[in-house]
Amino acid sequence: MPDDLSRIAAQAAAETEALREARRSFEICNACRYCEGYCAVFPAMGLRREFDKGDLTHLANLCHGCKGCYYACQYAPPHPFAVNLPKVLAEVRAESYAEHAWPRPLARLFERNGTVVALAAALVTALLMLGVKLFTSPEVLYGVHTGEGAFYRVISHGTMVLLGGVTFGFGVLAMAVGAVRYWRATGSARAGRIAPAPLAEAAHDALTLRNLDGGGHGCNDRDGDFTQVKRRLHHALFYGFLLCFAATSLGTLYHYGFGWQAPYGYLSLPSLFGTSGGILMCIGAGGLVWLKIVQDPEPVARRLLGGEYALLILLFLVAASGLVLTAFRGTSAMGMLLALHIGLVLALFLLLPYSKFVHGIYRSLALLRNAIEMRRAQR
Ligand code: SF4
Ligand code: SF4
Repeated sequence: MPDDLSRIAAQAAAETEALREARRSFEICNACRYCEGYCAVFPAMGLRREFDKGDLTHLANLCHGCKGCYYACQYAPPHPFAVNLPKVLAEVRAESYAEHAWPRPLARLFERNGTVVALAAALVTALLMLGVKLFTSPEVLYGVHTGEGAFYRVISHGTMVLLGGVTFGFGVLAMAVGAVRYWRATGSARAGRIAPAPLAEAAHDALTLRNLDGGGHGCNDRDGDFTQVKRRLHHALFYGFLLCFAATSLGTLYHYGFGWQAPYGYLSLPSLFGTSGGILMCIGAGGLVWLKIVQDPEPVARRLLGGEYALLILLFLVAASGLVLTAFRGTSAMGMLLALHIGLVLALFLLLPYSKFVHGIYRSLALLRNAIEMRRAQR
């Protein structure tokens, strides 16, 4: 017993201001329950009487920041209780990204995230462009290359595979380790067995962004009015990203399976997937930047905005540079445009585990845990 008390005391002493504020808010919400039907957070909260750090982190990642509870809340500022769940849960989420990042020393990248993303992206891109300029003769770099294998006359296929494979592999490994750490640290394994039914339910909710439709009327994207804008922009960005990934995978199949080398015809499947995915990503990322600029700043964790802007702008630049490369690939600008696009893609791969991109992974895990808990509670 004394050990338990000292463990709880040590945990409480180590808690951040955001965790303490989230607990205080949930204790008020648990007595109030007015927002019961607003989202998955409140029914999940209702299963608990006390909130340890794992519970708070799980609830924070279950929140999708629709802000509905803020505009509905009679205890929101200027009331002295000052309940502001969207803001404090965003802060707890950001702390969870940093806490579970791998390797541990790089977790510090989450601090000052906007500056780090901007500097790292600029550095990786500049290094690649410089390398291409130094190691490629001007005749090749500024020459006009067309037909199969045109890209590889500027940057060899082996170099592209090596750089892309190492950075992408590292990004995937770091995110996988972070996901396992998150699952363990939040005590999610205690929720129950991962059966096919809750897994399918969580996958459906994640892929359709079901919660962002607020039960049909949308979310409070800009202010107290409900709209579907944020959900549609998220869809554009998410499915645009998947289409670009599918284009790269198809290109790999063409290369190794059939011996066909990029660039492919404008009406080929990799080009159609890549172009439509790039357009969707530009619309999604650009639109979400606009939404952040015009939104009501009160229910927003403003100190996190720098990193969110930086990731969205990087995603926009990756997509836009790919589209420009596609449009001008038959000109003498192709060499430098290719170096610019590859540099931005490599920077994105390296920064993914230390950006808000991990939100998609932790949120999916929170949806899975919630599906398991809710099914158990209904038995
Ligand atoms: S956010 Fe406000 S209105 Fe909603 S449950 Fe909490 S205290 Fe009640
Ligand atoms: S901001 Fe939206 S998703 Fe988050 S707790 Fe409030 S109502 Fe739920």
